[in-house]
Amino acid sequence: MNLRIGYGEDSHALSDGRPLVIGGVKIKSPVGAVAHSDGDVLLHALSDALLSAFALGDIGSYFPPSDPQFKDMDSQKILEHILLEVHKHVQGLKIHNVAAMVILDKPKLGNYRQAIQENVANLLGLGKSDVGVTFKTSEGLAMKHIQARVTLLLST
Ligand SMILES: [Zn+2]
Repeated sequence: MNLRIGYGEDSHALSDGRPLVIGGVKIKSPVGAVAHSDGDVLLHALSDALLSAFALGDIGSYFPPSDPQFKDMDSQKILEHILLEVHKHVQGLKIHNVAAMVILDKPKLGNYRQAIQENVANLLGLGKSDVGVTFKTSEGLAMKHIQARVTLLLST
């Protein structure tokens, strides 16, 4: 078995009146991510982690922010496309587990953990216990900022 590690990171500024979507789950919040797409930090970091594991570039090369057709795009579509792309290049791809972290001061995300883990597991065809999502705050150092870090274990 040929093991691979994938790692991705993403961050967006937060602003009033923008949607807040994490792992494909809509979060009730007065602020959301300023982004060309729906600004889903977790799915962007996850997509980059998948590409990085096989040296296939990053999502910016597949979905240039300058392209108007990607405006407000559902990032689940981005992940779907990236998965197809990776499968095109990699024979016998298997994703073993996902370890993700979201750093956000407000709102608190604990009540969304189950929904986010389940949705990400579904998107990747994994079991519920194969996707771990932890939540951290910036301790007030980056109140207007959301960030995600994702590590994957894969094999071919
Ligand atoms: Zn992003």
